[in-house]
Amino acid sequence: MRSPWCAYALVGALLALGVQLVPQGPVRDGLGALTGCAAGVATVVGARLHRPRHPRAWWLLAAGLGSWALGDVTYWVCWWLLDVRGFPGPPDLLYLAAYPLVAAGLLRMARLARPGRDVEGAVDAAILVAGCGLVSWTSLIAPTLAGFSADPASAVVSAAYPVADVVVLGALVRLFAATGHRSVSSRLLASAALVLLVADSVDQYATSFGPGDGSGADWMWQAAYVLWGCAALHPSMRRLSDPAPAPGSAGLSTSRLLVLTGASLLAPATLVLQLLLGLPPQGWAYVVGSTVLFLLVVLRIHVLLRRVRAQADLLADLARTDPLTGLLNRRSADAELRRLRDRARLDGTDLVVALLDLDRFKVFNDTRGHPAGDRLLVGACTAWRGALAGTGVALARWGGEEFALVATGIAPARVEQVLADLRAVTPEGQTFSAGLAVWDGAEPLDALVARADAALYAAKHAGRACTRTADRGAGPVHTTA
Ligand code: GH3
Ligand code: MG
Ligand code: MG
Repeated sequence: MRSPWCAYALVGALLALGVQLVPQGPVRDGLGALTGCAAGVATVVGARLHRPRHPRAWWLLAAGLGSWALGDVTYWVCWWLLDVRGFPGPPDLLYLAAYPLVAAGLLRMARLARPGRDVEGAVDAAILVAGCGLVSWTSLIAPTLAGFSADPASAVVSAAYPVADVVVLGALVRLFAATGHRSVSSRLLASAALVLLVADSVDQYATSFGPGDGSGADWMWQAAYVLWGCAALHPSMRRLSDPAPAPGSAGLSTSRLLVLTGASLLAPATLVLQLLLGLPPQGWAYVVGSTVLFLLVVLRIHVLLRRVRAQADLLADLARTDPLTGLLNRRSADAELRRLRDRARLDGTDLVVALLDLDRFKVFNDTRGHPAGDRLLVGACTAWRGALAGTGVALARWGGEEFALVATGIAPARVEQVLADLRAVTPEGQTFSAGLAVWDGAEPLDALVARADAALYAAKHAGRACTRTADRGAGPVHTTA
């Protein structure tokens, strides 16, 4: 046998099948209890064997399975040894205690797979729980409560089962919304939980509407036990609660949308079915159910919109800024230049552009390395930003180790002074050359930038570490240090 889980799957399947061949009686119930105990033991063995990073979730599952198995054993003792056969009885307490334990285990796995707040997952789970809860209420819970109206204890215990099923379903949906990945173990876990839910529902339906000795669901409970055990023994259980990748498509894939649509339509679908079957429709249940579903869908839209808005803001920010220095990038510098040109035109003030270029930066990179060059760029920009605070001068990364200053409403001489201030705070003794140009009030912006660039070129030729100012509409005229 290749691995413990294959061995367990084979023995478990044979045991579960064997149970079906034995006629109703103590032997059959005893074998059934044995399958349950084996599933509990398999979960403990799986957790010890594969050592998942967070075993507590599996201990909770093992405790749940143990509680079910203990319920089976207690049932066997009460029924066949003590001849105590009333409902509700001691086994029901153990059976019902198992559901919150299993749900807590699944929820813990979900939390580990997606640490932090997973509002989308929670709302999606709530939509599914509300849809299935309504179906459960109309077809199982309400008829059960009505059937046991003379016996409140039996009514409450009997109705607690479908309620507990809905809780486990919610935890399962939460786990799948969180993990996203579909390992063998998570598939086995989901199959186990779904088979259990179907078995419980079939049994509950039979109890409310038929002979209801539980035998119709027997084989499904056995199958669920084997599947729980297999999920714990499969080696992929180790990765089940690994952090899942962030969901794409704003957290709403097509399949998820289809499932949510189906869940939202469960209310009208159930109502239609009841009308077609000629059953008296439970008006208030539909009013409450569909209102809750509607509000949850609206909440889902709200959460989705908030996420899309946050992503749009982030994209706009990324498109505007340079990733290394955090300054405005070339694209937003162009936009800023156009905006300030319009303001200068309206206010009749000067529009000043200065282009800065680090001196001999290639040498710096070649001697100190490119990462050190990056650090210098970041350090220089941080220092410049500090020096420019409150001056009304905008700073942008023009490209590479070239930067642009843009200002309006400020005298060109003041911009020259600002350039001198920047020079003083540039780290590591790094110098830069600058070319400054003042808009002549009519020229196109690229002509203005070309004049600033020509002035920068002249500053380089003048020996670097200085600023040159271009004449309005002509070449550079004077040099400042
Ligand atoms: P000059 O004084 O004539 O401007 O000399 P220079 O070496 O600065 O000029 P050049 O244009 O020949 O080289 C610019 C260098 O800037 C080349 C390139 O490796 C470096 N550079 C451009 N962008 C970055 C960057 O983002 N990070 C780093 N580390 N270096 C950059
Ligand atoms: Mg350059
Ligand atoms: Mg340079």
